Amino acid sequence: MLNVSIVVPVYNEEEMIPLFLEEANKRFVDDDKYHYSILFVNDGSKDKTLEILKEAYLKYKNISYVSFSRNFGQDAALAAGLSYAKGDVVIPMDCDLQDPPYLIKEMLKKYEEGYEIVNPQRVKRDGDSFMKKKTSGMFYKFINKISGRKVMPENVSQFRLISRRALNEILKMPEKVRMLRSEVPFVGFKTCTIEFERQVRGAGKTKYNYRRIFNFAG
Ligand code: UDP
Ligand code: MG
Repeated sequence: MLNVSIVVPVYNEEEMIPLFLEEANKRFVDDDKYHYSILFVNDGSKDKTLEILKEAYLKYKNISYVSFSRNFGQDAALAAGLSYAKGDVVIPMDCDLQDPPYLIKEMLKKYEEGYEIVNPQRVKRDGDSFMKKKTSGMFYKFINKISGRKVMPENVSQFRLISRRALNEILKMPEKVRMLRSEVPFVGFKTCTIEFERQVRGAGKTKYNYRRIFNFAG
């Protein structure tokens, strides 16, 4: 039995969490091969996110959460989630269904073929604004230039499968500010890419306004 931990950072997602759970209930159904659990990280939400997570925790056996005292940002929320996740494979994903849950089965197949990192790569970004696409492209060009080699795959977000072995190496890195996007390629391991089309957000708005967008690649 393979334990699959899905790590979901959430910030002011009261509208989205019920929709995410509905989809998760359809897609993440235990069978004789896989056991799924979902770990939410409440990143200091100001809406009803935390109450909704508490209810979900009481209602479903496979859901847990950690909660921040304030908003620290998606990267910090993910870092916390990854350090708590117990799975044999760990999959960080957004809760707005832009990272489609149906893809996870395909990612697990790749893991079984021997890949320890599986990167879903967006081939279409209709769901993102012009500004988001532009700043994201600039970010990857810049990072890959200063690093001297192409370390970060373009159009891959936080959504990916990471084996326990790779995650343990990442967690050993002394970085205080984690940036998964560079740490995952840094530790190596057998990696593959699968393609998908990014959808529009299920509900609510992007949590990245123009000021915050420049802190992040998307
Ligand atoms: N998020 C977070 N903290 C933040 C901003 C966002 O935990 O400060 C979460 C958000 O709730 C979502 C994911 O990170 O689950 C991606 O955010 P969003 O969909 O707003 O980003 P975009 O898809 O526009 O890049
Ligand atoms: Mg989104």
